[in-house]
Amino acid sequence: MAIQVTIGILALQGAFAEHHAAILRLSLPVRPVVVLVRTPEELAVCDGLIIPGGESTTIALLARLSGLLEPLREFVKIKPVWGTCAGAILLAQSVVGAKRGGQELLQGISISIARNGWGSQVESFEVPLHVEGMKDSETPFIGVFIRAPVVLELSRSSKDTPIQVLARLPAELLPPALSGLDDTDPKTIVALRQGHHLLTTFHPELTPDDRFHEYFVRHCVLSTI
Ligand code: GLN
Repeated sequence: MAIQVTIGILALQGAFAEHHAAILRLSLPVRPVVVLVRTPEELAVCDGLIIPGGESTTIALLARLSGLLEPLREFVKIKPVWGTCAGAILLAQSVVGAKRGGQELLQGISISIARNGWGSQVESFEVPLHVEGMKDSETPFIGVFIRAPVVLELSRSSKDTPIQVLARLPAELLPPALSGLDDTDPKTIVALRQGHHLLTTFHPELTPDDRFHEYFVRHCVLSTI
């Protein structure tokens, strides 16, 4: 029997249409079915989920209003999720710099993260990245950072699934707000994986390069069904 894979994209706010287009461009042996997720019923049919960039506070609020927050928390416990930018914030265990009133999180990846951690004067920048385990890894992936979060700390608990760092900002390309860090500092981490979850602090869906989308479907989702 042919394998079927259904990729959900949380479509409450933010760059979900761009992720949708990227998934449809993939040429894989299994063609993913895409579901734009706005209800618990739509989430229930997904094998994996992408949480787009946008505004993490707004996405969390809309998720609560749609009755999706608890189903999302259950989903991240068992199925693969990829968070990009605001989605990365939602996937983190804890957040620094949340808006007043707090920030609801899904806590799928055991890191702490800072919202808007690059400082307001460096709201947007692009950097070529070397990504571990990516197809054609000698070709850099252009990371588009828009008011991106910064990874502050990785869990050191031996109870947690190990975190694999996939990409760092090269020390010489760090924005002024973070210059002077050495390249083992967690703040230089911009892509990582923990088990079947994937996190990027930048926006792969805003480039025509679909290698991260292919990576998520192939290595995080297809490998688990
Ligand atoms: N700064 C936004 C937030 O806190 C994230 C920005 C983005 O997703 N491009 O949610």
